[in-house]
Amino acid sequence: MGSVEEVRIARRTGFCYGVREAIDYARLAAAEGKETHTLGQVVHNEGVIAQLQAQGIRTVDTLDDVDGGAAVVIRAHGVTPEVMARAETKGLEVIDGTCTWVIQEQKELKQLVDEGYTIVLLGTPRHPEVVGLLGFAPDAIVVDEEEDWERIPRKKRMALISQSTQPPWKFEKLAAFLVGRAHELKVVNTVCPVTIRRQQDTMELAEAVDMMVVVGGRNSANTRELTRLCEIAGTPVVQIEGARELDDADVFGEARVVGVTGGTSTPIEDLEAVAKRIYTLAGTVAARVKATELARAALTAVAEPAYRSTSLDDRGRPQRRTPVAGPA
Ligand code: SF4
Repeated sequence: MGSVEEVRIARRTGFCYGVREAIDYARLAAAEGKETHTLGQVVHNEGVIAQLQAQGIRTVDTLDDVDGGAAVVIRAHGVTPEVMARAETKGLEVIDGTCTWVIQEQKELKQLVDEGYTIVLLGTPRHPEVVGLLGFAPDAIVVDEEEDWERIPRKKRMALISQSTQPPWKFEKLAAFLVGRAHELKVVNTVCPVTIRRQQDTMELAEAVDMMVVVGGRNSANTRELTRLCEIAGTPVVQIEGARELDDADVFGEARVVGVTGGTSTPIEDLEAVAKRIYTLAGTVAARVKATELARAALTAVAEPAYRSTSLDDRGRPQRRTPVAGPA
């Protein structure tokens, strides 16, 4: 018989606002009857992609797959200026879902290039956000893990900037490392506050429970980082993509209180489903009987409106911001 009495969901989870807005833009365009595409997966979550497909929203890998006149949503990670210009030349309706934080990151990067700095970009090579950023700074040196750092040359004037979802500790460590590599070092901290808060909340929860479940894409760097933080906290942890992967009650051992957290592409509804699954699989007799209510209560305890999976208002329309034009 299971031992789990309580499942707690981390305080600030669910989609980050950038991902949420990009999804809402796509939904709104489709609801307005536009032939809507997203350039690349707007979120790395199969369930959400399936829902969008059901609403007629197609994911395309390149602009070649979109006919003139159709709408194309740029996802939160942003794209290179060339892609943006090409979409406009092609006569597509560009709906710019680039996250405001990423837009700021792109602007700061361009300014560093204009000021003549050798740029070090902390990020995952080939990650869409990094690919987009390189469009503004083609000569930037992209580094990720510490083994990479030795190849950074010594330069007179260097600037450090980061992909939004990199862990803050890594950014700080690289900044310290670069002090010995440059005469002048400019540090522009572009680690997203959402990422920082999520990591703090996860760490706090991990320290208060017997076991953690981290929900998110296997390839998601920010999800893996949450798992790593749980390990640092000394709490047993499993990382899964969704509730279906939980099929062995033994994983929970004697745990009484289990924490659940998720990456920036994981909707809070998935966390609720995982909480329910934990109760039904490994809960005490009393918990199993009330699994649905308990899971709902765990979500309601933390999901303030700002962290919900949509920013659509009561009439089903998003709070639309002024679309940002692609750089020339
Ligand atoms: S993690 Fe932050 S910067 Fe990146 S898309 Fe989400 S809100 Fe924007």
